Amino acid sequence: MSIDPDHVLSPSFTLADLIRSKTAQKRGIDNSPPADLLPNLRRLAEGLDRIQSLLGAPLEISSGYRSPELNTAVGGTVASQHCQGLAADFVCPGFGEPMAIAQALAASALDYDQAILEFGKWIHVSFTASPRKRLLTIYDSKEGYLDGLIDRDGTRIV
Ligand SMILES: [Zn+2]
Repeated sequence: MSIDPDHVLSPSFTLADLIRSKTAQKRGIDNSPPADLLPNLRRLAEGLDRIQSLLGAPLEISSGYRSPELNTAVGGTVASQHCQGLAADFVCPGFGEPMAIAQALAASALDYDQAILEFGKWIHVSFTASPRKRLLTIYDSKEGYLDGLIDRDGTRIV
């Protein structure tokens, strides 16, 4: 049995907010999560709530939970935290550029697992039971993840 998309996960987010996907819609992929991932999705939604409070503007989530089929379709890694309902990609135009968001997260006391500035375009964030508070940057898939927050010209910001 699939979970009602209107299911409230946190004060600001319903399940629908974390399973919506343009790719899934376009390709007719079922992106409903198994019920046993609800605790993870709730932890993620509560984390996103705290980020939203920190930034003081609404988050726009482009990708949250990904079913295995959707993850393959978007070229996600096999071990993606998206598949476990632990990660989301977002922007926050009301606050500022993704780089500014990453800096705000780095300076905060938020207990995220990983925050990754991805291609300068959005933030990938995950929340787990044992958060590592790792800050990473990626600009080039071949180059891979860089430790810390790095500017496009290679300057270390954090
Ligand atoms: Zn992501």
